[in-house]
Amino acid sequence: MSRLIEQIAELTAFRDRDALDFSLASALRELLRPESIAIYRVVGAAGERRWLLRSRVGGSGAEAAADSLWSDLETLPALAALPHHALCLQGSRIVPLAGAPALTLFPLAADGEAMGVLEVRAPQPLAGDAQQLVCAILRIYRNFQGLLDYSERDTLTGLLNRKTFDECFARIAAGAAGSAEGAAAVPDPRRAAAPGVAAMGVVDIDHFKRVNDSFGHLIGDEVLLVLSRLMRATFRHHDGLFRFGGEEFVVLMRCRAEVDACVALERLRTAVEQHAFPRVGHITISAGLARVRPGDTPTACFERADQAIYYAKQNGRNRLCDYDELVAQGLLADRSHASDLELF
Ligand code: GH3
Ligand code: MG
Ligand code: MG
Repeated sequence: MSRLIEQIAELTAFRDRDALDFSLASALRELLRPESIAIYRVVGAAGERRWLLRSRVGGSGAEAAADSLWSDLETLPALAALPHHALCLQGSRIVPLAGAPALTLFPLAADGEAMGVLEVRAPQPLAGDAQQLVCAILRIYRNFQGLLDYSERDTLTGLLNRKTFDECFARIAAGAAGSAEGAAAVPDPRRAAAPGVAAMGVVDIDHFKRVNDSFGHLIGDEVLLVLSRLMRATFRHHDGLFRFGGEEFVVLMRCRAEVDACVALERLRTAVEQHAFPRVGHITISAGLARVRPGDTPTACFERADQAIYYAKQNGRNRLCDYDELVAQGLLADRSHASDLELF
C-alpha cells in the first residue's frame, strides 16, 4: 500500500507533461512488474492521425524509449498500423489480447476526447483487479492533467496561455524536447537536438472589433475558437500554440528550413481567408514573423514579430510580413541591436 502511495506522489510531482508520462509508465511498471509499459498519443489532424510513442519502459526499468517530439508526422505509424490500439482508442474501452506476449490496452482520454492508449505487455492479459488498479491510477493522472490544463491553457480555445511561454521559447530555441525541470529527473531519449531553425509568428485578426460590434461578443468568441482549430490543423504537433489574450495568437515553431515558417503562416492566412465562419462569414488575419536568433530572449523576439505585424496592419492587412525581409528591403529599421545596447 505504501508503495502505491509513493508511486502516486511521484506521479503528481511533475508539472512537465513529458516527465508526467514517463512517471506514469514508471509507476505502473513498479506496481505491475510487466514486460513493458508504453504510452502512445495520437497526433495530427483528422484524416491523417498517427501514433507518437511518448514513453516505453521495460520491466527492469533500464530500457526506455520514445519517438522524438520533433518527429515529422509522415515518419510516424498511421492509426491503422496498430489496429488493436485504434480499436481501444475509438471504442474507448479496455482491450485485452492473449498471445505471446499478451497485451492489455487502456484508452487515455481528456475532456471526453480520446487522446491515446496505454499498453501493458505481460505474459497474460491483466486480470480484473490489476485492470482496476490501472484505471484508478489513470483517473489520478487524468485529474492531474486537468489541473495542469486549468493553469496553463486558455479556457476558451484550449491553447496555451502566457504562463508557459518563456519555457516553451527556451525549449524551441534550443531545439530540445521537454522542459529543463523534467530533463534533470528523467532519462529521456527524446531530448535529442532538433534539426533546423526556430521562429515565432504573431497572428492578429483584422478588424475584429467590427465582428464584436456587428454580431456580439459571443459570436466573436466563437470566431476565436474556430481560429484556434484552424491553427491546430495548420501547424505541426510539436509547435507551441498560444493565445496571448484578446484576439492575438502566437506560434513557436521549429522548422527544417527557414522558408517553412513562412509557408506555415501563409497556409494559416489562406485557410482563414477561405473559411466560412458561422454567422460572420469571412474574416482575415495579419501575421508577423521573426526568426529566433542566437542568445535571443522571448521579449526581444516577440518585439520583432510585433513590429512586422504592425507593418502588415499599416500596409493593407490580410498579409504575412517577415521582420528580416522588411529590414533587408529597408522598409523597417532594425532597432533590435540598438535596444540590446541600451540594456548595457
Ligand atoms: P486591427 O485590424 O487593427 O487588429 O483591428 P481590430 O479591430 O482587430 O483591433 P484590435 O486588434 O486592437 O482589437 C481587438 C478587439 O478584440 C477589441 C475587443 O473588442 C476584441 N476582443 C478582445 N478580447 C476578446 C475576447 O475574448 N472575445 C471577444 N469576442 N472579443 C475580444
Ligand atoms: Mg485585431
Ligand atoms: Mg489585437
